[in-house]
Amino acid sequence: MTVKTRLTKKEKEEFRKLLLERKKSIISKLSRYYAESKEIDTDTALDLVDKAETTYTRDFLLGLTDSEREQLEMIDQALERLKKDEYGLCLICHKEISKKRLQAIPWAAYCIECQEKKEGESRGR
Ligand SMILES: [Zn+2]
Repeated sequence: MTVKTRLTKKEKEEFRKLLLERKKSIISKLSRYYAESKEIDTDTALDLVDKAETTYTRDFLLGLTDSEREQLEMIDQALERLKKDEYGLCLICHKEISKKRLQAIPWAAYCIECQEKKEGESRGR
């Protein structure tokens, strides 16, 4: 059984915008970081990250902190889930993630219960 998200088209569009804005803000920070050595604008940077295959791009991504890189990846995964109509569902229990949580963290992949469980596990290690 495939669970589909029950978000309306309009809601999905809003979350997509939130995700893209966040992505853009991480990347624009990155292009500022590189501005001294390389002439690169936000659109070029976005394009590079989307292609994320070349060595150059990998080097480029090294300008990000680990958490920013992680966030960028989570944003991309969330965008992918939006495309497949699976956005807003917890990856562990497949229940819907509350809209309030998604508004605060649009790239959230887990519901609060599963997130807490996961964090509890990694703390216990
Ligand atoms: Zn869950």
